[in-house]
Amino acid sequence: MGDIQEGTELFPARRLRDVAAATGEAGLDALLLTPGPDLRYVTGYDAHESERLTCLVLPAIGDPILVVPRLELRGANASPAGALDIEIVGWDETDDPNALVARRLGNVAAVGLADRMWALMVLRLRAALPGARQELASLALRELRARKSPAEIAALREAAEAIDRVHAQVPAWLRPGRTEAEVAADIGEAILAAGHATVDFTIVGSGPNGASPHHTASDRVLQVGDTVVVDIGGTMPSGYCSDCTRTYAIGAPAPEVAEYYQVLKHAQDAACAAVGPGVAAEAVDAAARAPITAAGYGEFFVHRTGHGIGLETHEEPYIVAGNGEPLQPGHAFSVEPGIYPGPSGARIEDIVVCTTDGIDRLNRVSRELMVVPG
Ligand code: ZN
Ligand code: ZN
Ligand code: ZN
Repeated sequence: MGDIQEGTELFPARRLRDVAAATGEAGLDALLLTPGPDLRYVTGYDAHESERLTCLVLPAIGDPILVVPRLELRGANASPAGALDIEIVGWDETDDPNALVARRLGNVAAVGLADRMWALMVLRLRAALPGARQELASLALRELRARKSPAEIAALREAAEAIDRVHAQVPAWLRPGRTEAEVAADIGEAILAAGHATVDFTIVGSGPNGASPHHTASDRVLQVGDTVVVDIGGTMPSGYCSDCTRTYAIGAPAPEVAEYYQVLKHAQDAACAAVGPGVAAEAVDAAARAPITAAGYGEFFVHRTGHGIGLETHEEPYIVAGNGEPLQPGHAFSVEPGIYPGPSGARIEDIVVCTTDGIDRLNRVSRELMVVPG
């Protein structure tokens, strides 16, 4: 493990030290990480979430321990965490793991809890550590997690290529007479066949349902003349996620649809053209919004332009008005403007990475309005 080259490994051993340093800089004495993306980011351990406490105790100064229920001990040791410089401590069914954490931590003033820790654990840890202020672990982790390493970008690219292969097959499934749910089932199978470990979402919004951005899939029957918003994603075995939207038309689209789709495509290109290091996240949102507003569709672009992506589908940085934070090389996020005037809607979504001099677009499948035979 000592000879792992920096930057080539998805979960490098040195991350433990970087995170401990960031924990101290954030004014925290320790991070307490239960199963979820924060724990996976720090250790590579894709731990089982349950009511039994699994918790990485990572002090700013001192040795980390991983507290796991005895029955998870083998799995923890076999995970990437087993190869790291972490003492793995098993607890038995009649032990109090929260007291164990408190004993090992001693007197601390502030702890950072995994952002997605269950309230069950938050409150038990509060009772076990009554003197410690509870903060979010993202105080220490957000910068690190938002700036992807070359290995993380490679993992996101692999995820994007996999979802691109699914989109390439979608036209064949969009046939009049089939339901959205049937199409979504085909897409789900293809997401797995393309190499994902899990299907995270399969949005198939046809006709009026396309005007509801987070419509999932229903028993609505596809008809000639529909536009269909297909927003799909999954998680790869690496832990990294895909998320890509394309809009399809069954038969020739209505003239107004063809018109606002061109506005949308222009907006998505304009937003991507705005991406670069030092550019405020909200400037990318504004770049997407300007052509849509100018064309009179501003009120129909009802969501932010994008969200960061990595071990979670939605994470920092958010591409939204009010977020003045400058983009940095390694930031990975979606650029996904939409126009939903009803009785139809459209969205184009790609995952992109901010580079040292601009943008790297990870999704490569055509962004045109894909017309399938009616
Ligand atoms: Zn969304
Ligand atoms: Zn998205
Ligand atoms: Zn999406």
